[in-house]
Amino acid sequence: MATAVDNIAARYQEALLDPSLPLVQAWKERHPGARAVGVFPVYSPVEIVHAAGMLPVGLLGAGNQLEIAYADARFQSFICSIIKSTTEMALTGRLKVFDGLVFQGICDAARNLASVMARNLPGMRVEYLHLSQNQASPAAEDYLVGEYRRFQSAMEELSGRRVTEDGLRQSIAAYNRVRALVRVLNGLRARSPELVSALECYLLARLGATLPPEGSAPVLESALVAAQGRQARPKDRVRVVVQGSFCEVPPVELISALEEAGCYILDDDLLLGWRCYEADLPTEGDPLRSLARAYLNSVRFSSVRHGLDQPRATDLVAQAKQLRADAVIYLAAKFCEPALLDYALFRQALEQAGIPHLFLEFEEKMWLVDKPRNTIETFVESLLFD
Ligand code: SF4
Repeated sequence: MATAVDNIAARYQEALLDPSLPLVQAWKERHPGARAVGVFPVYSPVEIVHAAGMLPVGLLGAGNQLEIAYADARFQSFICSIIKSTTEMALTGRLKVFDGLVFQGICDAARNLASVMARNLPGMRVEYLHLSQNQASPAAEDYLVGEYRRFQSAMEELSGRRVTEDGLRQSIAAYNRVRALVRVLNGLRARSPELVSALECYLLARLGATLPPEGSAPVLESALVAAQGRQARPKDRVRVVVQGSFCEVPPVELISALEEAGCYILDDDLLLGWRCYEADLPTEGDPLRSLARAYLNSVRFSSVRHGLDQPRATDLVAQAKQLRADAVIYLAAKFCEPALLDYALFRQALEQAGIPHLFLEFEEKMWLVDKPRNTIETFVESLLFD
């Protein structure tokens, strides 16, 4: 029987996955003259965009909802889907709802996409954030504060509104609230995966990456209450951690297939950039410095945040052990270099720790998930009947 949390997630699913971005269009209609900024995954200080009076929205590609007709001509064939579908959205006018776009140096593909957008969308403000690469350097914090200050000036110019320190602290508090709710929801899933599914967590987190925090937080609160009150018994399933989908998101059919094949997904890295802090950011003191410190010291590990201070493979093993996972499913976007290069490290660490794992590649245009479903079912059976 459908419960309230099913209904809440399902109510928004179609609109969230629609590449015409109806939720953003509706927000702009309700706020004449207001501006929206598309933010490419993974790490962006969305609080600065919000403090400038604009709506930051996750630029998450088009999933399997858009046929690629024009974007192929702009890129080589060996490029991940999110780059192509985001370009297709741009070339078919679907990004006109945005007044600006933000990219960061997470990989060569994202770097090049910023330039392609700037060339193909005359009049669109395209900002590129140069995140610090050496997190352990004593100069990293000051460097990042300077980069965020430059970005803040760009957002002020775009919105025509000055960002005050108080305003930025309020935006940090607003996003703290959304992230905390997502964190609690994911914590509930990790402890009692029968109460809330990975797909529901993903859709609700995506709502937080689409609506302003004032709009998403009440929905998340209701969903959390509904999930906590759900009547469900634990099933005999394999407990897994999903890793590798920190940027491009797998089709929802594939997330469902994982769960239907007999997995409890205790945690994953979907929408990592929108839920990357393990704790609230300070709402006192210099807000730009708080943002910089959070990026340098408090974000979850990922393949696009380099640093010898945070060995990613060790973190994945620790996470799997802490959650008492039976296995790890490494779910990487096809042609995602950071994820695929890291797989060698993760595989070695998982094998050394004796944690079984399954490697799967996905792309957005996957319409049929029968083949991966069979692979997952075989993997699940091998664990259940080992
Ligand atoms: S999916 Fe991977 S390769 Fe593609 S833009 Fe994201 S991080 Fe870069």
